[in-house]
Amino acid sequence: CGIIGYIGDRKACEVIVKGLKRLEYRGYDSVGVVTADGDRVEVRKGAGRIDELTEKLGFLEMEGNRGIGHTRWATHGVPNDINAHPHTDCTGKIAVVHNGIIENFAELREELLKKGHVFTSDTDTEVIAHLIEEELKSANGFEEALRGALKKLKGSFALGIIYADEPDRIYVVRNESPLVLGIGEGENFAASDVPAFLEYTNKAVFLDDGEYAILTRDSYVVKKLDTGEVVEKPVHEIEWT
Ligand code: GLU
Repeated sequence: CGIIGYIGDRKACEVIVKGLKRLEYRGYDSVGVVTADGDRVEVRKGAGRIDELTEKLGFLEMEGNRGIGHTRWATHGVPNDINAHPHTDCTGKIAVVHNGIIENFAELREELLKKGHVFTSDTDTEVIAHLIEEELKSANGFEEALRGALKKLKGSFALGIIYADEPDRIYVVRNESPLVLGIGEGENFAASDVPAFLEYTNKAVFLDDGEYAILTRDSYVVKKLDTGEVVEKPVHEIEWT
């Protein structure tokens, strides 16, 4: 399973498909990509191999300079097209990919169903998109809604998140599942492992548990999930091999 996120001037889908190939060694049963062009978000996903799905679903035709790719190793819900990530909220504006397990998803799903949310998959992951949507109703902006939602999650999660109404950024989160940032010039990356972006940059920032990052084209910031406090992180130079 794996995650690769990109924001910059390149066609995001090209970086993502290459990155996913480099994470293939981690194993997976399904693949999905979300890209965004301005406030237009597009999701394509399915069960199967990367090469086969790239051809069948046309991953490389997806528009936009920001996006996230995911390979799934199913834990909750069978490997099929619907359960493949990304998962979206009811508005379709919030897209989430996830590696790991949300242990309390059943309770969260129950509460969200009562509030009128409609679920399309059998995954534990889908509650995250709906939870953020719910928090957004009372929060002061998307970042606060994200933090509010994440505080309610128990379990392990590496996440990649795109919000249609914030065209300049992508979010990633780490808690007991690996996630590393790749820092470029006028572009930034995030992935489960360094090889996914090493072709573009060798500057890496390793997130620790309980941290999230906001990536824009020319900046990144790492913060603590519980307090929102900014964390100064060392930048590692990975040796090119
Ligand atoms: N628990 C999630 C699912 O089954 C994510 C699995 C993964 O780590 O890929 O969809």
